[in-house]
Amino acid sequence: MATAKKYVYFFGKGRAEGRAEQKNLLGGKGANLHEMTTLKIPVPPGFTISTEACIEYVKRGRRFPPQLWAEIEADITKLERAMGKRFGDPKDPLLVSVRSGARISMPGMMDTVLNLGLNDKTIQGLVQRSQNPRFAYDSYRRLLQMFGDVVLGIKKIAFEGLLSEKKRQKGVTADTALSAEDLMDLVEQFKGVIRREAGREFPQDPKEQLRMAIAAVFESWNNKRAIEYRRIYKVPDNWGTAVNIQSMVFGNLGDNSGTGVAFTRDPSTGEKRLYGEFLLNAQGEDVVAGIRTPRPIVAMKKAWPQVYREFEQICRSLEHHYRDMMDIEFTIEDGKLYMLQCRIGKRTAHAAIKIAVDMAKERLIDQKIAVLRVEPWQLEQLLHPTIDPKAKVQKIAKGLSASPGAAVGKAVFTAEEAVEAAERHEKVILVRPETSPEDIAGMVAAQGILTARGGLTSHAAVVARGMGKACVVGCSDILVNEEEGYFEVANLTVRRGDLITIDGSTGNVILGEVALRQPEKLTGEFGTLISWADRFRKIGVRTNADTPRDAQVTRQFGGEGIGLCRTEHMFFEGDRVVAVREMILAKDADERRNALAKLLPMQKQDFKAIFELMDGLPVIIRTLDPPLHEFLPRKDEEIRKVAEGMGVSEKTLKDKVNSLQEFNPMLGHRGCRLGISYPEITEMQARAIFEAACELKKKGKRPFPEIMIPLVGHVKEFQIQRDIVKRVATEVMKAYGVKVRYLIGTMIELPRACIVADQIGAIADFFSFGTNDLTQTAFGFSRDDSGRFLPQYLDEGILQADPFAVLDEEGVGELMRIAIEKGRKAKPKLEIGLCGEHGGEPMSVDLCHRLGLDYVSCSPYRVPIAKLAAAHAVLKKQVKIKEMGEK
Ligand code: ADP
Ligand code: MG
Ligand code: MG
Repeated sequence: MATAKKYVYFFGKGRAEGRAEQKNLLGGKGANLHEMTTLKIPVPPGFTISTEACIEYVKRGRRFPPQLWAEIEADITKLERAMGKRFGDPKDPLLVSVRSGARISMPGMMDTVLNLGLNDKTIQGLVQRSQNPRFAYDSYRRLLQMFGDVVLGIKKIAFEGLLSEKKRQKGVTADTALSAEDLMDLVEQFKGVIRREAGREFPQDPKEQLRMAIAAVFESWNNKRAIEYRRIYKVPDNWGTAVNIQSMVFGNLGDNSGTGVAFTRDPSTGEKRLYGEFLLNAQGEDVVAGIRTPRPIVAMKKAWPQVYREFEQICRSLEHHYRDMMDIEFTIEDGKLYMLQCRIGKRTAHAAIKIAVDMAKERLIDQKIAVLRVEPWQLEQLLHPTIDPKAKVQKIAKGLSASPGAAVGKAVFTAEEAVEAAERHEKVILVRPETSPEDIAGMVAAQGILTARGGLTSHAAVVARGMGKACVVGCSDILVNEEEGYFEVANLTVRRGDLITIDGSTGNVILGEVALRQPEKLTGEFGTLISWADRFRKIGVRTNADTPRDAQVTRQFGGEGIGLCRTEHMFFEGDRVVAVREMILAKDADERRNALAKLLPMQKQDFKAIFELMDGLPVIIRTLDPPLHEFLPRKDEEIRKVAEGMGVSEKTLKDKVNSLQEFNPMLGHRGCRLGISYPEITEMQARAIFEAACELKKKGKRPFPEIMIPLVGHVKEFQIQRDIVKRVATEVMKAYGVKVRYLIGTMIELPRACIVADQIGAIADFFSFGTNDLTQTAFGFSRDDSGRFLPQYLDEGILQADPFAVLDEEGVGELMRIAIEKGRKAKPKLEIGLCGEHGGEPMSVDLCHRLGLDYVSCSPYRVPIAKLAAAHAVLKKQVKIKEMGEK
């Protein structure tokens, strides 16, 4: 016969049946109470009813499993013995708290009931023993209030209203100013509330109180708030919650008592000092409830020097034991200290880094664990300007948080205005109904971007993230009038030149200027942590950098090269677009060459600046990729202006615009297809690259270009482009009389390219997965249109994550696996990287590590995130951290 399951675990007097590791069984709170007891830390004795009992209760249609009550009664007896008091004893009653506690702390679960065991008889015992009727009746009225609220479901306000009324009558503001008689009167009133609202008397039998409270905790596992929370945070429904029954200690016994909360280090800065607050003569959550103003923890040093010393000692030993910063609840009863809860403390990114590095230096943890202690996504907080939390703001609208960070500037409504303002060194926010490739220059010039339409994968969102620029999209609260230069929101009009602030981390749009905090540099503990990550990671981190400025940021954040330099962005700058348009309008190859000749020196100049900044590091330059119509005006008005400026007829331009029109530009005349139709373009770009490189080389620099051909699907496409680049490289190097190390490779962004990767790999020096397009073409989702259905896919769980944000392992990842295997079979030393937006996303970095990529390439601002994620990918497998606390 199987032995019956054990449901109840006792802790008290230095011995406990449970351990910190048993969070699944005992819940976070329970497991840590058991652990602290074993550590001989003063914890009031009690017992924990396991999560399994809760699950059993739910399964049985809200009935206690057999044996459970018997086990509970047995542990009540144990507890009575440990405390030398009896449950329901009218002379000296045992009082307990009933506390819920799941594996992870979960809002929505039942609140705690304190002072359980009091009734009309035992209250007399408490009065006698304490010689403090005020305290006793304060405890009783709290029990009635909490029991009424959390067990019987009576609205809090029913009790709180009476309490406030009593204080008003007595002309006092603090609860503590009420007398024993006042509280005695409130007890009667509260009992009346229960009678009226619950249609029953307050249960006088302590065991019935206990049984009801335990059942209420079990049931709270399935209340609406808890279910909702689990759905959002993907917490399984079958975890259940534990229940802790713990003997009471009293912080409301007078001015030699109190209660408080503390952190062993500062959770906001990470500084090594006790941080927290306490209240004299208070119980339970009075501290956090904000009823009275608590005192800083250091004030305890004066009030109770002895207790403070003991408290410090306990904090130290908890940190040594858990090897982490702890969050603690404590109570002082008549000068004696008790610990009521401990768990691993939540902290800001800033604090997480400082604490991890400090603890490694203190040898509490090693460097590997320190690196694992900081979650890569947390760094986001440090890498962008943020709104000073102390700032008073006037929020006027809210959109989607598309690209983190905050930005302040004058509202402008067209890309041109943004560019002009930037030339005057003015800061602007570009406000658009939505953005298109023509707005790039304006987006570059602006501090931040706000759009009324578009989702998280819209043009504005994607481009802004790439630039590391604050961006709020899909802000449907605002109505943009670009012609007249204003937007309306509610009954407010924000005009061209008015100052606004946007917060890309929250989606908030704020009127006026708000003080910002600047992003961190890689200095201090942050720099140290990333240098440790560098030590452990296997995969390299490069950046997607289009401009010398991006290259500079790359160096600043420790990028190890450029994984993608998109040359087309250079075509939009200044009056270059005029030369580009001439090139597009050219009637034949000669005319095209003439136009390209104007572009050559400008491209060369950019490449030189970038190579120089990246001296010695590889720089992947992609040949022209977007369809040509993106460089032409679209609207009649603009066409007229551009035609006039270029001295061509409006009709010629319009005809060209029409002839370049495509039904599906994503699959149209772009990528290497352009270079095949117009080899002069590839030629000019190759020339610009190699002339720049040769000139630097002559000056003793170490340029290292890698030329990348986009959108290759067939090996011959690559071969044709490669031959052009190779020929130009040889010519230029000969002319300059120097040799430059270089590679020619391809972007792998079409499923066909993955399948024939052996053929391509045989003649390519490197592959770089363009996972934005590879995701589009693998799913057949257009990134620009998927906003219509992706949200539903995520809601209904068809997809677990947006595949444009998190690399899809099953599909896209499998294509990559095939390409890697075939490519490396053809050429074992083939360099393979990734340059999609996924390169800065931790889960995708982990996949890239597992796939054996040489590097990932991401936005320069995300380098530390990618580096940390890359280190985590290695360390997660190496280090099995015994996480004893709650995370
Ligand atoms: P939460 O999970 O919301 O923090 P807790 O179970 O920790 O809920 O309890 C709420 C408050 O009651 C805390 O301040 C806690 O310290 C206090 N408390 C819980 N049990 C006892 C007890 N046995 N004696 C004194 N105070 C207690
Ligand atoms: Mg609470
Ligand atoms: Mg608590």
